[in-house]
Amino acid sequence: MIADDVVDLRRGIESDEIVPYFQPLTELRTGQLIGFEVLARWKHPLRGMVPPDEFIRMAEDAGCIGALMEKVLSQAFWAMRPLPEYLRLSVNVSAIQLRNRTLRRQVSLASEETGFSLERLTVEITESALVGNIEHARTITEELKALGVRVAIDDFGTGYSSLRHLHALPFDEIKVDRSFVQTMLTRRESRKIVAAIIGLGQSLGLTTVAEGVEDAAQADMLLWLGCDLAQGFLYGRPVSDGRLERFVQEQKAVRRREAGKPPNPEDTTFQLEALPSQRLSQLQAIYDGAPVGLCFIDRNERYVSLNKRLAELNNAPIAMHLGRTVAEMIPEFYTFLGPYIKRALQGEVFSGLKFEAARGDGVVQIRSTSYQPTRDEAGEVVGISVAVLDITDQETAETALRESEVHHRYAVALSPQIPWTADAEGMITEASPQWTALTGLTLEESVGRGWARVVHPEDREAAGEKWQHSIKTGAPLDVEYRVLCVDGQWRWIRSRAAARLDEHGNVIRWYGALEDTSEYRRTREELEAAAARLQGVFNAVPVGIVIGEAPSGKVVMANPQAEKILGHPVVDTLNIPDREKWGLHYSDGRKVPAEEYPLVRSIVKGETTGAQSFRYVRSDGTERCINLTAAPIRGKDGEIIGGVVAIQDEKDNK
Ligand code: C2E
Ligand code: CA
Ligand code: CA
Repeated sequence: MIADDVVDLRRGIESDEIVPYFQPLTELRTGQLIGFEVLARWKHPLRGMVPPDEFIRMAEDAGCIGALMEKVLSQAFWAMRPLPEYLRLSVNVSAIQLRNRTLRRQVSLASEETGFSLERLTVEITESALVGNIEHARTITEELKALGVRVAIDDFGTGYSSLRHLHALPFDEIKVDRSFVQTMLTRRESRKIVAAIIGLGQSLGLTTVAEGVEDAAQADMLLWLGCDLAQGFLYGRPVSDGRLERFVQEQKAVRRREAGKPPNPEDTTFQLEALPSQRLSQLQAIYDGAPVGLCFIDRNERYVSLNKRLAELNNAPIAMHLGRTVAEMIPEFYTFLGPYIKRALQGEVFSGLKFEAARGDGVVQIRSTSYQPTRDEAGEVVGISVAVLDITDQETAETALRESEVHHRYAVALSPQIPWTADAEGMITEASPQWTALTGLTLEESVGRGWARVVHPEDREAAGEKWQHSIKTGAPLDVEYRVLCVDGQWRWIRSRAAARLDEHGNVIRWYGALEDTSEYRRTREELEAAAARLQGVFNAVPVGIVIGEAPSGKVVMANPQAEKILGHPVVDTLNIPDREKWGLHYSDGRKVPAEEYPLVRSIVKGETTGAQSFRYVRSDGTERCINLTAAPIRGKDGEIIGGVVAIQDEKDNK
């Protein structure tokens, strides 16, 4: 029976029943098709389509895997002829093929015969094929590499001694086995394994490929983890050579349609697809333009990054913050903030926490602070994104209000607010003419409870309850609601009041003020959204971003991508003269002097440098081709306050 099967297989190979199928390989970041993996199929005249699991092993045992490979290879190379040059092919090789010397000859012959350049070929070797066979496998892979062929380690993580194998052969690519990918959304262990394999691949300078990607959530997480390529049913099942050309056409059409879609400003991924220079200027604009203090603090409540505005608010330079805790930097505010920070680290979101405090220099500030926990891919809180607004100006007048009647009068005279008074029962007795101007209600119509008729029905009950509570207890009133204005628009109004008490503590009268907060609400919402976007964009842009301070050149902010490309931490490291310790070289190998670093040129001379290629030697000795674009950052009066450089790994451009 077995012998019959072998005879049948030999016959099948002879009569071209073994055919290649092609499964797409896709670049995660752009969604672009970059090539195919060739998978063998047996079109059996009686049994129908036979999967490789049922005949590859048999072919190996019967000694005809070489003949099978020859057929599959040359058919696959032929099938690629009409397709664009940039599309690559990956083929699987068996353990047996790493034991004899025919593979190299087979590959070169097929290439000569069909004109398919071997620079476009990747050979996939499974870990199990290497067991007990490393020396020989090394010789063979080195021969293949000499022909321009790339070598991938397949099903990584499933074999025995994976790390030893990775170390032993000169691999270019690492394929994460589909068993990990398919459970990564539901199993923390898988997720950590996938993250670790991708990190390992990156640190060894290998292209990382995830297999068995079946849904968009997996693809998103892989992108987030920094994986380069993906393969799986999400992008396509293996197709026959007859359908290959149409598949490529359809992919192109999809991309064209997507390119033609109008941009959705809510969609940050759209921004990420912009040209590097555009991405950079977008970032810069948000970063410089946000009149809001931004920072990220880690689990130990230390500042990891912050912007200039926050440094100003805290009255200390950026560099002094980095690595220090919130309690160390702003002890006067920490008493209030500390408990909220702790709760945010447990996952709670806080927005618009308002507090006032006297700074060291005696100036009283009122701030509105928001905390947004940031989670890692497993959902654990790794830190907090913080946005801080100085709202002292809006608040000082009303703070005075609570303190005394005299202050109240004074504040009223100065502020664009609408004063009112009420009796001990809460009946309105007076309102300034601005109230009539705003709402169209006369004083007669407004007194008593008349004012409530212009309050938005949805807000009426809640506002009424708060007011009743204050009347009962004498506690200050602070409530927001919408009122209908003469122009027919609803506007947000904030109403605050303080009671004047007699010597027995009974309320004599209420003094209040209304303030139109529509504008403030809107800007606050916009700023908070901008802050959150900035944080996300900064960390997610697929280019490295490094921001340096003028005039020292000290790096005050860098995103994870920058550190990944350069291979070492960058923030708070070096002043201009120290920069020569970095590994930047011209393409001809000469070391770049400190004053010629693009970031330094933009900080010192205010130059905006065009994209320029360099070689970067990382501290571990590996090299990257990188592309740098730098621009100065200017303050309000046009003076240079820093510089920003965008770093692109040129391998990402291919
Ligand atoms: P492999 O190298 O890991 O190939 C990928 C296998 O995963 C293919 O199965 C493919 O159809 C399947 N696959 C791809 N995407 C998904 C997905 O999203 N979900 C799931 N569940 N599966 C997916 P196939 O074609 O049955 O190949 C099985 C194995 O046979 C391959 O595993 C490869 O090791 C071997 N093989 C295939 N063709 C050849 C060949 O020409 N020569 C040699 N030596 N081995 C081959
Ligand atoms: Ca494979
Ligand atoms: Ca595989």
